[in-house]
Amino acid sequence: MAQAHPADPPGVISPWAMVVRDGRIAWVGAPADAPREPEADVGEDLGPALVTPGLVDAHTHPVYAGDRSDETAARLAGAPYTGGGILRTVTATRATSDDELRELVAERLRAQLAAGTTTVEAKSGYGLSSQEELRALRIIREVGATLPLRVVPTLLGAHAVPPEAASAAAWAETVASEMIPAAAAEGLAVFCDVFCDRGFFSPAEAELILRAARAHGLGVRMHAEQLARTGAAELAVRLGAVSVDHLEQLDPAGVAALSGSGVVATLLPAPALVMRDRLPPARALLDAGVTVALASDANAGTFGGWGQMPLVMGLGATALGMTADEALAAATAGGAASLGLSADRGRLAAGFAADIVAWDAEHEGAFALRLGAVRPIRVWIGGEEVLGPDRTLAGG
Ligand SMILES: [Zn+2]
Repeated sequence: MAQAHPADPPGVISPWAMVVRDGRIAWVGAPADAPREPEADVGEDLGPALVTPGLVDAHTHPVYAGDRSDETAARLAGAPYTGGGILRTVTATRATSDDELRELVAERLRAQLAAGTTTVEAKSGYGLSSQEELRALRIIREVGATLPLRVVPTLLGAHAVPPEAASAAAWAETVASEMIPAAAAEGLAVFCDVFCDRGFFSPAEAELILRAARAHGLGVRMHAEQLARTGAAELAVRLGAVSVDHLEQLDPAGVAALSGSGVVATLLPAPALVMRDRLPPARALLDAGVTVALASDANAGTFGGWGQMPLVMGLGATALGMTADEALAAATAGGAASLGLSADRGRLAAGFAADIVAWDAEHEGAFALRLGAVRPIRVWIGGEEVLGPDRTLAGG
């Protein structure tokens, strides 16, 4: 088993065995070497099934209402993408009750779990007022408490400039001085994110927001280099961000800036394909030693596929030029690194959380071969079975 670096592939042992105790993996190795567990009360034989760590989807936007598939069709027919569609979702989301939003979020997160994701990052960002952004974060917390999967909340108050704000600069000031202190005081977010890109927030505005976030104890991540090469990657390095996400427009200088920085590159192939955008330079990032995560970016306007992390891994291995091992590592250990959870999740190794998925496949190459069609047959979180033959999805 690889243990040294968060981007190492999980490794393959066959045949193999694992001991789980008190929600954690206690031992992994060859069956003949298994420690005797006289008090073991449950034994499982998973046959030839591929078994992986629970998937870690480090980038999603689940709190929204409305449907923008018409906008997607228009864009594919040639209308330019401006991102203005975010404000359409903001209008629909503000008009939706707490109960309805909770049900929408629960449905999306249940789909994630049913597809093998055991840890999911969840952003606000379709409220765009202090009150609405805090409402979204409370809904994420409330829904997370009803489901077995592990939810990591992120404040994305700077997802777009709301119509009520005078300018991007004025809105950045409001996010930094009002929204971040309020979210931090209520313990509603682990991370703060900013859409730092052409037509959204400049690097200077992003820096104002992210420095405020750090001062209030939040971790920092960024939507960066998606629409234009702005220098957001270099800013992330300077600010000590945990992750920079997207990177479709990253150039060799940007790859060099991330190399050795410790900032994780979280790549999102699905929305890049939906938008017919350039694909991020996954191969160059991996070859430069950057820790790469693969995430879904499931959201309202550029990729609406909830429960599609098996597809995202397949796209990593096909469209992004990663090996099947690298794609699996990026969706497990890489995702954990993107969320600052490298010591706890994303690996099948002693000491790690017993978040485990058995698949209807026998080799990780299936994620590429069966693009989007590989599904879990059993899922455990913290050693508790949450999906399997004897139970439908827990928390339903
Ligand atoms: Zn996003």
